[in-house]
Amino acid sequence: MAKKQFKAESKKLLDMMINSIYTHKEIFLRELISNASDAIDKIYYKSLTEGATGVNRDDFKVLIETDRDKGILTISDNGIGMTKDELEKNLGTIARSGSLDFKNQVENKDEIDIIGQFGVGFYSAFMVSDKVTVVSRAYGSDETYKWESTGADGYTITQIDNLPELANGTIITLHLMEDTEDENYRDYLNQYTIKNLIRKYSDYVRYPIVMMMEKSRLKEGTEDEFETYSELETLNSMVPLWKKNKSEITDEEYNQFYKEKYFDFTDPLKVMHNSVEGVVSYTSLMFIPGSAPYNYYTRDYEKGLQLYSSGVLIMEKCADLLPDCFSFVKGLVDSQDLSLNISRETLQHDRQLKAIAKRLEKKIKSELENMLRNDREKYLEFYKNFGLQLKYGVYEGYGQNKELLQDLIMFHSSVKDSLVTLAEYVDRMKEDQKYIYYASGDSIAKIDKLPQTEMLKDKGYEILYLTDDVDEFALNMIMSYKDKEFKSVAADDLEIEESSEEKAKAEKQAEEAKAMLDAMKEALGDKVSEVKLSQRLKSHPVCITARGGLSIEMEKVINAMPSDDKVKAERVLEINANHPVMAALEKKYENNPEEIGDYAELLYNQALLIEGLTIDDPIEFSNAICRLMTN
Ligand code: ADP
Repeated sequence: MAKKQFKAESKKLLDMMINSIYTHKEIFLRELISNASDAIDKIYYKSLTEGATGVNRDDFKVLIETDRDKGILTISDNGIGMTKDELEKNLGTIARSGSLDFKNQVENKDEIDIIGQFGVGFYSAFMVSDKVTVVSRAYGSDETYKWESTGADGYTITQIDNLPELANGTIITLHLMEDTEDENYRDYLNQYTIKNLIRKYSDYVRYPIVMMMEKSRLKEGTEDEFETYSELETLNSMVPLWKKNKSEITDEEYNQFYKEKYFDFTDPLKVMHNSVEGVVSYTSLMFIPGSAPYNYYTRDYEKGLQLYSSGVLIMEKCADLLPDCFSFVKGLVDSQDLSLNISRETLQHDRQLKAIAKRLEKKIKSELENMLRNDREKYLEFYKNFGLQLKYGVYEGYGQNKELLQDLIMFHSSVKDSLVTLAEYVDRMKEDQKYIYYASGDSIAKIDKLPQTEMLKDKGYEILYLTDDVDEFALNMIMSYKDKEFKSVAADDLEIEESSEEKAKAEKQAEEAKAMLDAMKEALGDKVSEVKLSQRLKSHPVCITARGGLSIEMEKVINAMPSDDKVKAERVLEINANHPVMAALEKKYENNPEEIGDYAELLYNQALLIEGLTIDDPIEFSNAICRLMTN
């Protein structure tokens, strides 16, 4: 019979995979067992939903057999099996996952948990075998087919006689490679090697993985004569990790579990394993990932915890269990109080589920607070990955998550090299300080150079440096922390304490300059709502400040959004009362009052540039400079 070729791209992929994707050849066993377990899941699911006949759930198992003489390892399951078409489709094209197809056909996709979704697992068999045979009979079919391949050169599919032991299911036979100097392939025929691999990788597979184990015992009636006998042994504990006693679980086991189940390469930063007894009883096992998933801050990311009812998975991603602000948490909840046939619609109204969600939220918060208090370095690592999400959480909840999150968020500061919390800021506040000051900008360096921050820093006030777009919006939602309101350094009324002399001097200067300032405002029209003298500036001649709730930074962020609703902050042009430019202006105004409009324009545009904003009319700006230069 003619050999069929793997789909063109498959050949290359197969080679690549065999040689590079998996560093440990031993995982082939895990992959094949996972496939077997998935296949049993599928028939189990069918029996639940369609009442598949002839399926005895107590019989479900994966059987491992070895034949030393022939160098053969066999993995059989009594799962759903494959038709001829499915053999062709699933094993003829690499990187095509039949499991995903199945999942997509099922109505409530999330209700079924299937380990393999990548479509490369099966081929790992070729890392250790030079020939693989798959004999399969699909559930409900009376035909059995054999798929056979020696690797990249293709495969054959033939019909064979039905096997009495295979009503439905799959038998995979691996013809192991000969041992080489570096690899001991025949070791996979060793019972204890297999047993250890199953313990390591497949311990929580929920169906028994059984193997005939050779054992020895004292011969009856003798005192020192032994005889060997065989006994079918279940090699996996099947007890899910979360049902074990916390004290019996090692960090390594948690990490392994996390990485396998949630497809991560890095260990989790934090493991939270709890059992709660009460009105609702449940066990939760949650993880904070060590790094942010690549799609975390995109729409593609789906939050949620797996939901089990007494060890049976009922939903793959239950979003209602996690608030958005903690969407980075991965893990599962197992509760015997939830009914098995719960659907997504009824879940939302489930009181028990709501109660669990509330407790999980509290738990995550307190774990994070503990980390912040006791292991700051770790918390900073967490914050680097997910801090932004916490700040979005404050903003998106319209302040309703304020209590939950305000002690967890952090900002850069004018007095520390690293991030600070609001509590730390407030602890350091000066006695007479009314507000928590903050400044926004693209980077710490830029903010530090802003004219508005200079005097505050000089007077010893700490300033929070906000570098993320969401920061100022989040603070606006919090409104006040420990009774201290937030104030932008670019607000036009900073309300810092001044001495009475300072006040008197400022008032006098303002009085004297009033006519000129009014003329400048007149010239600038509705670009600004006022031109005024400023005592806040030190070395800079001018700055722009905002009056009212909308700051210039917020204006920038909102206007950058893809929407037609543009906003404009109410701007005030402030001129440094003590800068030489002020004296020069006054002189010009005395001698050539008609030129004051050009000077106002010049200073206004200069202030915009310092702020990192664009100039409305660059040509007019340049013309004004030339006019003044040629005067
Ligand atoms: P996946 O990542 O989808 O498990 P595999 O390459 O391991 O990819 O397997 C491809 C497909 O072959 C599976 O999705 C499944 O549909 C089918 N398959 C593999 N092993 C079995 C099995 N023991 N019983 C039934 N179907 C199987």
